[in-house]
Amino acid sequence: MRFAIDRDFTVRTLADLVRINSINPSLEPGGPGEAEIAAYLARTLMRQGLTVDRHEPVPGRVSVVGRLAGAGPGPALMLNGHVDTVGVAGMQEPFSGAIRDGKLFARGAYDMKGSIAACLGAVKALADAGASFRGEVLLAAVADEEDASIGTADLLTKYRVDAAIVTEPTHLDICLAHKGFVWIEVETLGRAAHGSRFDLGVDANMAMGRFLGALDRLERELRTRTPHPLVGPPSLHAAVLRGGTAPSVYAASAKLTIERRTIPGETEAGAVAEIQAIVDDLAACDPSFRATSRSLLARQPFEVSPDARIVQMVRRAGERGPGQGAGVLRSDAVDGFGAARGCRVRDRSDRSHGRRCARGGGVGRSGIRSTARCHPSRSRGGLSALMSAQPTLLWTLAEMVITRDL
Ligand SMILES: [Zn+2]
Repeated sequence: MRFAIDRDFTVRTLADLVRINSINPSLEPGGPGEAEIAAYLARTLMRQGLTVDRHEPVPGRVSVVGRLAGAGPGPALMLNGHVDTVGVAGMQEPFSGAIRDGKLFARGAYDMKGSIAACLGAVKALADAGASFRGEVLLAAVADEEDASIGTADLLTKYRVDAAIVTEPTHLDICLAHKGFVWIEVETLGRAAHGSRFDLGVDANMAMGRFLGALDRLERELRTRTPHPLVGPPSLHAAVLRGGTAPSVYAASAKLTIERRTIPGETEAGAVAEIQAIVDDLAACDPSFRATSRSLLARQPFEVSPDARIVQMVRRAGERGPGQGAGVLRSDAVDGFGAARGCRVRDRSDRSHGRRCARGGGVGRSGIRSTARCHPSRSRGGLSALMSAQPTLLWTLAEMVITRDL
């Protein structure tokens, strides 16, 4: 079997992808979402001979999965990437796709339409070769990874694969672990009254101040805990704070949204319990202190063993790639949580991932992140790096499906 990367196709595809506005509407009101880019990808995948499924769990939030079946039963590999982007504020030419000095300029060129184009290039090479492999390759282009991961969450209810590569930008390093997060809302409760009526008013903002003081102590304590070898210690920050309605009114309510970053081994319940313990302690010391806490959203941490078969394969593929080896990355700098969770080691028992798995029953046996990169300001090699990534991905998947060695 002989594979050849169609460089022109890959670059052209990347240019097409970045010219389609796919800003996540959950982040930017009015953003168009993924419908148009998903339609483009569906057409492209079908032209390559793949079977294409379209999924739309929420109107306008579309994911596409292309399936390239081999000649017989065998392992299934998923290449996963998100097609939504963040906003374009402050960008001069967010959708130009202009190429200068070997670099392609646009919103999402790096995170992560470059990776999607690389996946397409890899799958096209496999399809063009008429490869008589066994097993199946799936290319999943998912919605909403920049926010709540509804795209991959949906796919986990529909697909079962043996391994997955989430192609988030990691500068071509292999990412074996990722922090999770829990968004926790704390509301302190007061009593509204005219500003002159100190005898009636109870100030929720002052109560929040006391809570924040205790939260600050927890924040410092978290970073003294035993760090995870790849992702470091847990942490938190007081992300959003709102309280009160007018200068001459005692605040009846103050709300704080905390982001608690979790490391492998930590749970959503544990993180929430730490916050509730602060509330309980303050209330025990002062009966006038009233507050509630609740979890808004959680995405669990993950890690995959460096001994996993997929990890070893990607490492070997990286070593064979032109000019790059595959390293190991502490991974908290990239997004793509839902996708990462989708390919975690099946038998591990962190809870919220298990919740997703239980809902869908469709997760990979093992997973990893590797990536292409193509961003004008952050890339060391621009398009040349992207071109290098394609063989890495291709060899990885080819080796996997051919050897049936998972
Ligand atoms: Zn991303």
